[in-house]
Amino acid sequence: NEATVVFLSRSANEGFARTAAACFAAQLDPTLDEVNDIKTAVSEAVTNAIVHAYPNTLGKITMRMRLLEDLQLEIQIKDSGVGIPDVEQAMQEGFSTAGQTARELGFGAGMGLPNIKKYTDKMQIDTQIGRGTTMYLSVHVNQ
Ligand code: ATP
Ligand code: MG
Repeated sequence: NEATVVFLSRSANEGFARTAAACFAAQLDPTLDEVNDIKTAVSEAVTNAIVHAYPNTLGKITMRMRLLEDLQLEIQIKDSGVGIPDVEQAMQEGFSTAGQTARELGFGAGMGLPNIKKYTDKMQIDTQIGRGTTMYLSVHVNQ
């Protein structure tokens, strides 16, 4: 099975995407812990696309969800934004390009990507400067 949703990089759509992913995952009968991990990972990836990929404009975000064999759920989150110059650096705990104001509002701890890694079984980032970023998240359900 698979489903794709496309939405604008408005902050209201973070909750939409998180819930859509949980609804799609429901067909696998996940545990509450598994659903929460999926929601957290999707939330961080979509928030990054909203906040970092399109800093001063609205852009499109595509979330594609696929069920693979052996109860594996793959979620791709794609933006066509600014791209990530150094993925290894971006993955480090505490690394953030968010400004002081964002930090005061509770964003920009630099924990989003490390948390995605923690809450998924596999993650991969494809990115190109000026072209955008696709995150591949993979989760095994019912393990
Ligand atoms: P937090 O998620 O803790 O609020 P953060 O978003 O800055 O803070 P991460 O989610 O770990 O931290 O991301 C680290 C950095 O990687 C970001 O500050 C940003 O520079 C870059 N980044 C992440 N996702 C994207 C993206 N989709 N497009 C462009 N840059 C990104
Ligand atoms: Mg983040």
